[in-house]
Amino acid sequence: MPAETRLFLCLKDNYGVLLHDPDSGATASIDAPEAAPVEAALKATGWKLTDILVTHHHADHTDGIRALKNKYKCRVVAPAKGTDIPAVDETVREGDEVKVGNLTAKVIETPGHTLDHIAYWLPEENLAFVGDTLFSIGCGRVIEGTPEMMWNSLKKLRALPNETQVYCGHEYTVANIKFALSIDADNPVLEARAAQVERLIDEGEPTIPVTIGDEKLANPFLRADVPDLAVDIGMPGEPGEQVFAEIRARKNKF
Ligand SMILES: [Zn+2]
Repeated sequence: MPAETRLFLCLKDNYGVLLHDPDSGATASIDAPEAAPVEAALKATGWKLTDILVTHHHADHTDGIRALKNKYKCRVVAPAKGTDIPAVDETVREGDEVKVGNLTAKVIETPGHTLDHIAYWLPEENLAFVGDTLFSIGCGRVIEGTPEMMWNSLKKLRALPNETQVYCGHEYTVANIKFALSIDADNPVLEARAAQVERLIDEGEPTIPVTIGDEKLANPFLRADVPDLAVDIGMPGEPGEQVFAEIRARKNKF
């Protein structure tokens, strides 16, 4: 049977998500921003927590780990380059596979936001959990790495199959769309997404997951090597990494 997911808000604008294998009963929490909403989601679904898969070391992704591990005795999987991540049982790096029951996640290193950042990709399920690297119509701030590093990480995610459903770490879509329209206003796919997101927010619904195929057409951070976008921001002919760095810098000040 295909994997099931359950998405819920944590803290102010973080997303928690559970990944469940109906065949084995295994359930992973992708990151653990705080324990209580994860426990509430487990209660609502009747799923039992077996694993926590950590994307990076930031406290708003790891603060719930200890309490959940104490209660459920779950395994904690974290990036090998991680720092200050509590209660880690196993570390993983580029190309490693992580089993959640019978589900297989592949580890993709995506440094930039932090140096330890990884994504979990489940090719057979068309799912990817990308933490704070790629957001809907946006990307994470480049805090520990360089813009070039982040651009290379985003290109790895962009190369995943179009139908891949992407779960990210925050609900930032409305602000991201405002910024995206400021530099890519005549993009019809982006305009359509803006209308769809407005409707979802009105209905109190999350704006994720999104697909890689849609993001490739609408997310300016994945379009930094599209010649027309470089022209739009006054950098005709500049390479993708330079255009990306400029777009990211403008977003920081937006
Ligand atoms: Zn973060």
